[in-house]
Amino acid sequence: MADRAREILHRVFGYDDFRGLQAEIVAQVAKGGDALVLMPTGAGKSLCYQVPSLLREGTGVVVSPLIALMQDQVDALRELGVRAAFLNSTLGAREAREVERQLVAGELDLLYVAPERLVTDRCLDLLDRSRIALFAIDEAHCVSQWGHDFRPEYLQLAVLHERFAHVPRIALTATADAMTRDEIVDRLSLHDARRFVSSFDRPNIRYRIVEKTEPRRQLLEFIEGAHAGEAGIVYCASRAKVDETADWLAAHGVPALAYHAGMDTASRAAHQARFLREDGLVMVATIAFGMGIDKPDVRFVAHLDMPRSVEGYYQETGRAGRDGLPAEAWMAYGLADVVQQRRFIEQSEGNEAHKRVSSGKLDAMLGLAETIECRRVRLLAYFGEASGPCGNCDNCLEPPEAWDATEPARKLLSCIWRIREASGFGFGSQHVIAVLRGQDNPKVQQFGHDRLSTFGIGAGLGEQEWRAVLRQLIAQGLVVVDHERHQVLALAPESRALLRGERTLQMRRPRTSARARAGKRAR
Ligand code: ADP
Ligand code: ZN
Repeated sequence: MADRAREILHRVFGYDDFRGLQAEIVAQVAKGGDALVLMPTGAGKSLCYQVPSLLREGTGVVVSPLIALMQDQVDALRELGVRAAFLNSTLGAREAREVERQLVAGELDLLYVAPERLVTDRCLDLLDRSRIALFAIDEAHCVSQWGHDFRPEYLQLAVLHERFAHVPRIALTATADAMTRDEIVDRLSLHDARRFVSSFDRPNIRYRIVEKTEPRRQLLEFIEGAHAGEAGIVYCASRAKVDETADWLAAHGVPALAYHAGMDTASRAAHQARFLREDGLVMVATIAFGMGIDKPDVRFVAHLDMPRSVEGYYQETGRAGRDGLPAEAWMAYGLADVVQQRRFIEQSEGNEAHKRVSSGKLDAMLGLAETIECRRVRLLAYFGEASGPCGNCDNCLEPPEAWDATEPARKLLSCIWRIREASGFGFGSQHVIAVLRGQDNPKVQQFGHDRLSTFGIGAGLGEQEWRAVLRQLIAQGLVVVDHERHQVLALAPESRALLRGERTLQMRRPRTSARARAGKRAR
């Protein structure tokens, strides 16, 4: 079997050797076993089902939600002499009927099918009448109701196991934390499947997360400083911000294009085509951009807004450096990101369980942003992979100063509490910080907050540092922001331990504060 697999690899695909876990996976599926495959994008998942499809008798049926890519995949396979076809909504009725005929007649090696199509009675009947080599369920995380790629039709794929019990199934994904992994196993009845998890490390990507002060200017410095003339992707959270940022970069001499779902199809397609074809373009985009984009020489991915989960961050940054050459993942992150993401969750439609899961995912992302340890160690740990400091992330290269922020944090907590107690209601971050720093402004006067015992107890730290402390407290859930009422701050019950001195707060010293202090001394 192993010899035949390698023979197909050489003869059909023209490759010398299997990579990583490919050979083992191929063997498992070829002998009729089920497999759950977790591999990062670009690692070579396709061969894991393509080779066994050719080894086994019958047609390999591939379920994929990426309809736009099916045509390309099928074209590429046909080029190699593989008898491949697809069934999805882009086919006319006559074409579809021809593909169906070929399937039943045993004239296909591989058939790509959209999930909503596969689960129709018509399609299942066809499969009954055909010889099936295997089922490959690509992008298997789409079965997870907690993820943002959830596809309800994926839940119905459990039918494959019930109806075609003897046909091996292989589920593949590039994004799955432990919980999603279990969900895939449960919902697709893959309890007996062998699990294959390859390393998610992308050693050529350097991770960098900076404190957000003037995001656009910081972005420009990053691009001009390290990536002038190179291709890159800049992710923003909103369409408006995408447009603004692309214009702004272009006005500052960076060739930038915009991409988001609000643009008309033609200009979106045109921008995508230019980005893939031309050298050195920067694509400013929402996360609508990127699924299935295979441009090997993207030298950087920048985030002006924080993704809502580590999976999202990993997937988006993973679009850098597919060619294996050095690439950078850069993100500017600040208090507003934390506040905004918490608000998204609170105001989302989901039920309590859903909010809890989203909140947990956000916490992991915040942990990655705030950590003073190796970013890669954190990132890989999230996917269940142990590793040592990488030497190729900002924290490894320029170890951040750890700072015992316990005292400042207690001052901030007491100040929030005192203000609420004195006024009967809460205030937003700006006011709380003004009171802490002892600033005498009209609002402070109006509420008599200059008479509070906490007025001016934080004069030793600058605005930026206080914002960093507050961000950390919100990130850790010790302070909550009331989005219904003017973003006012309140203490969470969890803050008690810190107030009582039962725990400490370690955080990274904001890099900008050194400069700010130097500036102050000069004045
Ligand atoms: P994934 O689906 O995991 O993102 P693909 O299956 O698209 O990855 O493969 C990524 C690239 O790696 C493709 O260009 C593929 O041809 C190449 N590749 C995969 N396996 C091998 C191999 N064993 N030897 C050489 N190239 C490979
Ligand atoms: Zn590192």
